[in-house]
Amino acid sequence: MTSSRKVDLRSDTVTKPSAGMREIMSAAEVGDDVYGEDPTVNSLENRVAKLFGKEAALFCPTGSMANQLSIRILVAPGEELITETNSHIVRAELGAGAVFSGITTRTWLADRGLLNADEPLNIAKPDSGPYLVSTTAIAVENTHNFGGGTVQPISEIKKLRQESQKLGISLHLDGARIWNAHVSSGVELVEYGNYFDTISVCFSKGLGAPVGSIMISDKERIGKARQWRKRYGGGMRQVGVLASACHYALDHNIKLLKIDHQRAKLIAKAIASIAPNLINPEHVDTNIVGLDLTGLKITAAELSSWLQEKGILTGALGPKYLRLVTHLDLTDDDIEYVSQVLPKLLQRALVS
Ligand SMILES: *Cc1c(COP(=O)(O)O)cnc(C)c1O
Repeated sequence: MTSSRKVDLRSDTVTKPSAGMREIMSAAEVGDDVYGEDPTVNSLENRVAKLFGKEAALFCPTGSMANQLSIRILVAPGEELITETNSHIVRAELGAGAVFSGITTRTWLADRGLLNADEPLNIAKPDSGPYLVSTTAIAVENTHNFGGGTVQPISEIKKLRQESQKLGISLHLDGARIWNAHVSSGVELVEYGNYFDTISVCFSKGLGAPVGSIMISDKERIGKARQWRKRYGGGMRQVGVLASACHYALDHNIKLLKIDHQRAKLIAKAIASIAPNLINPEHVDTNIVGLDLTGLKITAAELSSWLQEKGILTGALGPKYLRLVTHLDLTDDDIEYVSQVLPKLLQRALVS
C-alpha cells in the first residue's frame, strides 16, 4: 500500500519559499541589474562580499554558474584545474569547464571527500613548460556533497593555501553549502574567505531560497566575471525579487541549519542501530546522510523504491549509494516517522 504521507529527503533544494520569504520578495525594491541599478541585488552582493572579507560579489542564477565563472577567471584555456574525484565541479556540471572554458582537469580521490592538502599538492604541476599541462587552480568543496556533507578540516585548508601560494596556484571554494560548514565547525565565514581566491555560495540549498547563488572575489575578477555572466546569458533584470529572498535567508535561516544537522544525525543513529556498518553517525557532520550499501544485497534503487512505498523520497545517486538530505520543510514528526520506517526496511534488506 502506498502511504499518504510524504517526506522528501532527496535534496535540500526541494524546499519552497516560506510565507515570510514570499512577503519580503513581493515588497523588494528593484531595478535593471544589467545596468547595475537593482538596489536589492547591489546590497546583497556587498553584504555577501563583506561576510567573506572580500571586495566584490556577483549574483548568479545557479551555483554551477558561480563555479564556472570562477574557474574560467582563474584558469586559461588548456590549463588545468585539480579537484576531488567526486566533487560537483567535475561530476555534476556536465563538463562545463571543458565546454565553455577549455579547462582540463585532473582529480584525486578522497575518502568521504575529505581534504588532505598533500593529495592535490602531490599532483599539482605549475609552470609545466611547453610539453605538459600546467596546473593553475585547485578547487575544494565544503561541505562535500557526495562525500556525505562532510566539513573540510580547516587545518588542511590552511596548509593547502600556504603551500599552493608558494607554487602560484589559485584556490577556488565550491561553497554551495559553506553555511552548513560554518554552522557545524564554528569557523567564521571570513576565515574561509581568507584562504580562497574565488568562492561560490548557494542560497537555494539549505537556506531555502527559490533561486540564487553568488560568486565572491576581488573587484578585478568580479568585473571580468560580470562580462562572462552576460555572455553566458546570465544577465538578469529586476532580479531584486530573488535577491531579497537571499537577504531573508541570511537573516533567518542560517541559524536554523543546526536543526537540519541534528535531524540528519537522528536518522543516521536510527540506521546505525540496525546496520552499524552502513553509517557512522559520528561522520554525519551536517545535513546529508550518505549510505554505502556495498555490504548489502539490495541496490540503492531498490531501497529507494521500498522507501517510496512508505512515502519517503530519497536519492539513489549510484548503484549502491543512497542519499538522504534534511532541510527546512521537514518536521520533527517527519524525522520520527523516518527513524521508525527506515530501520524496519533495512532489517528486511539484511535478511534478504
Ligand atoms: C548544488 C551544488 C552546486 C550548484 O548547483 P546548482 O544546481 O547549479 O545551483 C554546486 N556545488 C555543490 C557541491 C552543490 O551541491
